[in-house]
Amino acid sequence: MDELRNHVKEMLANGTVAAVIGYKEAGSPMRTKPVIITAPEEAILLVFNEYCLNNLAVYLTKARVKNLARVNGTIKKLGIVAKPCDVHAVIALIQESQLKREDVYIISFNCNGVVKDYGETLTGETIASKCLHCDARQPLYHDKVFGELKDLPASPDEELAKIKSFDDMTSQERFEYFKNEFDKCIKCYACRAACPMCYCTQCITDKTIPRWVESSAHGRGNFSWNLIRAFHLSARCVGCGECERACPMDIPLSLINRKMLEVAKNDFAYLSGRNLETPTLVGSFDVKDKEEFIL
Ligand code: SF4
Ligand code: SF4
Ligand code: SF4
Repeated sequence: MDELRNHVKEMLANGTVAAVIGYKEAGSPMRTKPVIITAPEEAILLVFNEYCLNNLAVYLTKARVKNLARVNGTIKKLGIVAKPCDVHAVIALIQESQLKREDVYIISFNCNGVVKDYGETLTGETIASKCLHCDARQPLYHDKVFGELKDLPASPDEELAKIKSFDDMTSQERFEYFKNEFDKCIKCYACRAACPMCYCTQCITDKTIPRWVESSAHGRGNFSWNLIRAFHLSARCVGCGECERACPMDIPLSLINRKMLEVAKNDFAYLSGRNLETPTLVGSFDVKDKEEFIL
């Protein structure tokens, strides 16, 4: 912790960064919340542990945060404390031209997993599902990295087993499953607010002329909203799981996101936010792309 605090203090004091988005304790050592610090003496607030659940990359596209980087007519770097999986979101934002690599200072950690919920000790039962299939516990990109890798607690990946069981279902059974889940949606849009890749200044679901999606929490509009969101995130979602964690109705959004990720990976050898040198999947075309989905 001291290494992180000292480094951030130095970066703020010498003007390398204008602000740092990080985590601070929230009422208990087993809970954190986001914090944005702009003064060296505030670095003492920062923590990094298995309770750092938020994907802080969501703040990088917010106007009020971007404005912090404008200092005396120049653009300074914004610092971010990012788990390796959250670094994928930073990279995906750069790939989508929402951010320049030179404008962000990535402070990351060799990561030993996070818990599903605050207040639990990290074990095989309490570890977040995304950690069980994590393929990058060491950050792919960083300006500073701390921490040592340890073995993750052993645990079966129940989410993966559930996704595999979908492949055995008929399309009607899959439709019914998700229809029932989406019927629970109350259109609070917490999933959208938590998602680093949902950065449009006006979401299509908020448009009223024409109105594309029913605004009330009705089955028809719920289904459209959730499917539109899934399609808009296909091959863009970085699998951070924050949408599902934010959902007050416990809708298993990660199942659909993760299935879409598997398709992009298996059919196009593409994983979002992994390589700054490659274009995004939806932003590129290859004559060899599979087209068997076109009837
Ligand atoms: S998914 Fe990987 S990088 Fe992210 S918190 Fe889990 S172990 Fe760490
Ligand atoms: S759709 Fe969900 S899992 Fe994917 S990037 Fe957004 S918040 Fe993360
Ligand atoms: S967070 Fe859950 S309930 Fe709220 S809009 Fe998203 S899917 Fe619906």
